[in-house]
Amino acid sequence: MEKSLNIIKSGNINFPLEDYISAEKFKKIKEFSKTHETPFLIIDLERINENYEELSTNLPFAKIYYAVKSNSSIEVLSLLRNLGSSFDVASIYELDLVLSLGVSPSKISYGNTIKKATHVKHAYEKGINLFATDSIEDLINISKNAPGAKVFFRILTDNSSADWPLSKKFGTHLDLAYDLAVKAKELGLIPYGMSFHVGSQQKDVGQWEDAIAKCSSIFKLLKENGIELKMINLGGGFPSRYNYVINKSSEYCTEIAKYLHDYFGKDLPEVIIEPGRSMVGNSGVIVSEIVLISKKNKIDKLNWVYLDIGKFGGLIETLDESIKYPIFIEKKGTPREVILAGPTCDSMDILYENYKYKLPSTIKIKDKVYIFTTGAYTQSYSSICFNGFPPLKSYIL
Ligand SMILES: *Cc1c(COP(=O)(O)O)cnc(C)c1O
Repeated sequence: MEKSLNIIKSGNINFPLEDYISAEKFKKIKEFSKTHETPFLIIDLERINENYEELSTNLPFAKIYYAVKSNSSIEVLSLLRNLGSSFDVASIYELDLVLSLGVSPSKISYGNTIKKATHVKHAYEKGINLFATDSIEDLINISKNAPGAKVFFRILTDNSSADWPLSKKFGTHLDLAYDLAVKAKELGLIPYGMSFHVGSQQKDVGQWEDAIAKCSSIFKLLKENGIELKMINLGGGFPSRYNYVINKSSEYCTEIAKYLHDYFGKDLPEVIIEPGRSMVGNSGVIVSEIVLISKKNKIDKLNWVYLDIGKFGGLIETLDESIKYPIFIEKKGTPREVILAGPTCDSMDILYENYKYKLPSTIKIKDKVYIFTTGAYTQSYSSICFNGFPPLKSYIL
């Protein structure tokens, strides 16, 4: 119990600190925190380098298209560019950013199935030739504004057992995916491949098997009808280490390689993978500070602990308490259940209320709070001035 100095005790998170960060790097972050106002995010580029190398070693036949939306800071994008990564963009703004770093348009895909005609045109004029789609309307839009481009068709997947599901909103059923490919050819586009996303922070690798099986059936059907697809896009979904132990990236890769072999045999198409969370998640630590500790009545046992970061400052993935970040305070004391909330005047700005985090009984206002695994979907989500709070600052370790 008194060992809280080295153990993360938050709710049932009970792992050694070293599972998240080395002692040496943690010391560096603490030093830095002494002279910088919280909240801020610190990114460890070495971690991203390792994640990239690990994935490219374990899936050597796959091309990595980093999902820019997960962390679009210049340093992260430049590192990945230098490592030879390709990029998946969600908008022309991300596109222009990636192009401004000297990335060739041939290494960029436009993966959002929802796009304005003017944006398709802009991308096409900049040299983008690979677009995702999941509807006839969008396909026609692409054919008019990016004539002759390669298109791939996103299918619906189940997304259950993902902590951050993307279900329903994207993708199409198989019969429509088939029709899209036929229509694409009619419209003078190149029906190029199939894609899916099994849901972000996907704990069940078997979800890739279902999706790969579906894709292979469309490959076969289309081939019988004179359309030969060339590519399968496995999407994102690989997990990051939050409040539970996850399978290693190598274990996911071994399984996925096996599924590809099972369903495509020797005729393996070009394979694309679009990691976001698993590429940058474990590279980030948010340093925050306790602003207020209070009770709702005189005899309340439960403390409300308000941090200087909340849902609008970058922790939007606590919505429905979906993502449970490892939270650490370097203090000794009996772990006590608390309700954690953010600093804004919006009642939805509560981080964890049902899931009870435990913090040491000795916590005080102004104590530093370290939130691990915050490299993905934090800074890119933070609002620009809700309640006047500035967007989340980010520094490189
Ligand atoms: C968000 C997104 C990704 C990244 O997903 P992660 O689960 O963060 O790896 C990949 N591809 C597409 C099309 C996406 O929308």
